[in-house]
Amino acid sequence: MSYQVIARKWRPQTYNEVVAQEHVAKTIANSISKGRISHAYLFAGPRGVGKTTMARIVAKSLNCVNGPTSEPCGVCEFCTEIKNGNAFDVIEIDGASNTGVDNIRELRENVHSAPLKSRYKVYIIDEVHMLSKSAFNALLKTLEEPPAHVVFIFATTEIHQIPETILSRCQKFIFKRIPVAQIVQQLSSIAQKEGYAIDQKALYHIARASGGSMRDAQSLLDQVISFGGKDVTENDVLSLLGIVSLKQYCDCIEIIVGADIPSLIQFIEDIITAGVDIARFVTGFADVVYAMRLCRVTDVSALLGYSDEELSLLKKTAQHFHDEQLSLFYTMLLDCHKELKFTGNERAVVEMFCIDIMHMLKRPTLASILKQLDEGPQAVQKKKLNDSTPKESKAEDDKKIIMHAWTQLLQNLRQSKQY
Ligand SMILES: [Zn+2]
Repeated sequence: MSYQVIARKWRPQTYNEVVAQEHVAKTIANSISKGRISHAYLFAGPRGVGKTTMARIVAKSLNCVNGPTSEPCGVCEFCTEIKNGNAFDVIEIDGASNTGVDNIRELRENVHSAPLKSRYKVYIIDEVHMLSKSAFNALLKTLEEPPAHVVFIFATTEIHQIPETILSRCQKFIFKRIPVAQIVQQLSSIAQKEGYAIDQKALYHIARASGGSMRDAQSLLDQVISFGGKDVTENDVLSLLGIVSLKQYCDCIEIIVGADIPSLIQFIEDIITAGVDIARFVTGFADVVYAMRLCRVTDVSALLGYSDEELSLLKKTAQHFHDEQLSLFYTMLLDCHKELKFTGNERAVVEMFCIDIMHMLKRPTLASILKQLDEGPQAVQKKKLNDSTPKESKAEDDKKIIMHAWTQLLQNLRQSKQY
């Protein structure tokens, strides 16, 4: 039997199996079980989060031999044909390649003929926002008076590009980006069923790289399996994606904190040799610094998509810094990323920025200087009570402390403008 890609093989077949879109699944299943069937549904959301999958499940709900039902059987002739993509009465149209008015005119002529053998004719139009203005106008006429046996399901990643006249005739559902932890869980379950041993850390890298898209995550899993075989390690995934691990970022941060320039140069050399894309390394680095800044304030594990182990490493590394330093660190990395576009020597740019960051970290922070300014006179005042030194001399001490702190403050302000 030919190899079937994971995304297709493990495509959810019931409402309960669609990951992270419970709000949509529940509403549609309830309305279908109450016999309230809309003639037009619009599914909007990022790519690869289950819109077309949900559309096919709705088609099964409507046309299943037991239907309309919120629990299509999955085994009858109608369900099986829809699952295999060869149901005559479920017509899938790619809006991106059928953008013209002629395509929609043809559709308008066909909608009036009764379904061949099913209860409903279901039109699933993907990327519907790609239709031309005249195509939308032609479609609108059908939506105004849809034949009783027709249901439209539109899917789009760009809901704002769809005319209001169309939107107002559809039941709209917004699909969510899928959280990293849920992608990891799904990939882990698929890998187990397929008989692959994949390191949990590797799954986290795949899930983060997929940007909340289950389809992208599953395609990456396919690639990783063909690359790594039965046992897939974290390093396999890092090599395939051309990225570095959180542990490596934290190692690099330790080098920067220790102002160890030779180790920094060796580190950059190693990642370049490993085939890591430098621009991607820098944006990933900025993400790590951002995560360090956030994890000090609140529990953001779900938001950041790190495992518990990674999060504790992140928190530990964050202890090296003041908030102010992390903000500056982050800004410098973003500037470094901009600079990379104007250079033929990416390596030099990254090394120079990292050295600048080392210097920045050595300087006193604004907060520490303000604290000194704040505490200085009080500390002196306290000393006055227990001290027998002449008054003029203590006043002189106060002045010295304030002058010193003031000079540092000005210097720091000047430097923080240029890092
Ligand atoms: Zn069925």
